[in-house]
Amino acid sequence: MKTLRLILGDQLNGKHSWFKETHEDVIYCLFEMRQETDYVKHHIQKVIGFFAAMRQFAEDLNSKGHRVIYFKINDDHNKQNLTDNLSELINSNSIEHFEYIFPDEYRLDTQLSDFSNHLNITTKAVTAEHFYTNRNDLATFFKGKKQYLMENFYRDMRKKHDILMIADQPEGGKWNYDKSNRNKWKGDVEIPNYKLFKNDISEVLQDIENAQIKTIGRFGTKTFSYPLTKGQSLEQLKYFCEALLIHFGDYQDAMHTEQDYLFHSRLSFAMNLKLISPKDVVKTVINYYRKHDDDIEISQVEGFIRQIIGWREYMRGMYWAFMPDYKTKNELDNHNKLPDFFWTGDTKMNCLKHAINNSLDNGYAHHIQRLMITGNYALLTQTHPDEVDDWYLGVYVDAIEWVQLTNTRGMSQFADGGEIATKPYVSSGSYINKMSNYCGDCHYNKNKKIGDNACPFNSLYWNFLDEKREQLGNNFRMGMMYSLLDKMDKQDLQNIKEKAQHIIAHQDDY
Ligand code: FAD
Ligand code: SF4
Repeated sequence: MKTLRLILGDQLNGKHSWFKETHEDVIYCLFEMRQETDYVKHHIQKVIGFFAAMRQFAEDLNSKGHRVIYFKINDDHNKQNLTDNLSELINSNSIEHFEYIFPDEYRLDTQLSDFSNHLNITTKAVTAEHFYTNRNDLATFFKGKKQYLMENFYRDMRKKHDILMIADQPEGGKWNYDKSNRNKWKGDVEIPNYKLFKNDISEVLQDIENAQIKTIGRFGTKTFSYPLTKGQSLEQLKYFCEALLIHFGDYQDAMHTEQDYLFHSRLSFAMNLKLISPKDVVKTVINYYRKHDDDIEISQVEGFIRQIIGWREYMRGMYWAFMPDYKTKNELDNHNKLPDFFWTGDTKMNCLKHAINNSLDNGYAHHIQRLMITGNYALLTQTHPDEVDDWYLGVYVDAIEWVQLTNTRGMSQFADGGEIATKPYVSSGSYINKMSNYCGDCHYNKNKKIGDNACPFNSLYWNFLDEKREQLGNNFRMGMMYSLLDKMDKQDLQNIKEKAQHIIAHQDDY
């Protein structure tokens, strides 16, 4: 039966069982489309990365004898819309059967299931063969529970997949080494020269420019530094094991003006496009640890494994459990706009300057920069979650809605009222100073709450607590902060609130 199989830009899994054999009557199709480049303004490096990886993947399939139809962004016959392109191919190739891999995004899932339902040929959707869990496993796991605690899910994953377990007990005696994962990096522990690829993407860049796609961010190096193929992804993973794993856990929450990546793996782009699977990543890391357990502590390894089998799978499960309603949640009733400096990096606040410039220069920021610098600031300034989502979905090369939305709207902005995080991730300047060297040469004074040179995070923090008392006052994890707020002198609080309101009204002056 003449079959058309669709491969989306984030479904570049060369190990998928689709590709085990070649069939003369199976055609694979991949499309670069305005539908995908325009639903949000993406970082230039993100668009480049997706198109370049897709082109490479299509070439690899071709070289293995598969039949592939590839639409580049400026091809005349490209209708720039997924279902229009599919209809055209189905008609022009007399296709009798259509197959697709379940998309990870709700938007595409709806589009493809509607399309399939209206076709008069047979259709089938198959799994991506990538994640540990199925879409609905998490919802099933938490059925009837009041709280969807990541920790419970994570422990179950460890047991179910026998990862870092000795019988039914966690290897090393502890499930969690969070407390030893909170070191500040002071330059004393050496970081090797970070491995950055120099992929030549000049042709893709030219095509994007010719298509006049509107993008954000910068592309100073003109070579693409993230892995674009499975081979490169494995190289990046090897580099991570050999050079970074040894200190990953220790410094996973640290931030530094001179280091964009510290000990982070930079594997998210490759994993989210499915160039490499989480199972391969976990297996490789654990095998490496087994051979080097004289040097590498379990806390470093557990810290990393938790991100992959815990957070990554959990975020996806939460997405499928709560979509589509999740995308409209705004439990803290925030309505402000993000300041312009999120697109320029032009601010006197040193922490934001570094986190935003890292995002604009590299399409990257590590977890704590996303959560405790940009996310923290957006929440303290009471920004509408739609604004925050759009920025995060656009600016990061690894941003795909299933993982971006739950992290941003849930974990970072508490817009779900606590389905993901048990308390809002907000802080004053003191946390930022504890975990980074940003405050040292900042224009602002981390210890002051009011006055011209007071750190804006300080007044914003207390103002936020005061304004959100109705929603947060009964949160048991916020109790201590509210009792401190209650003890504050009324006039002091009034002055702090005036300062915060000035900042919110004039964000681009700060
Ligand atoms: P490492 O620190 O080396 O971690 C290893 C891997 O663990 C990552 O590659 C990633 O696959 C996984 N991981 C770690 N934390 C998380 C998490 N919270 N959720 C899911 N996976 C995780 N990650 C994305 O992949 N895409 C996003 O759009 C995204 N948006 C985020 C938005 C906010 C507000 C926050 C707080 C986090 C977001 N994250 C997102 C999670 C995390 O910041 C990135 O996965 C990580 O920074 C990628 O860099 P890395 O590969 O060097 O990660
Ligand atoms: Fe950021 Fe405040 Fe520290 Fe400056 S003083 S870097 S604004 S936390």
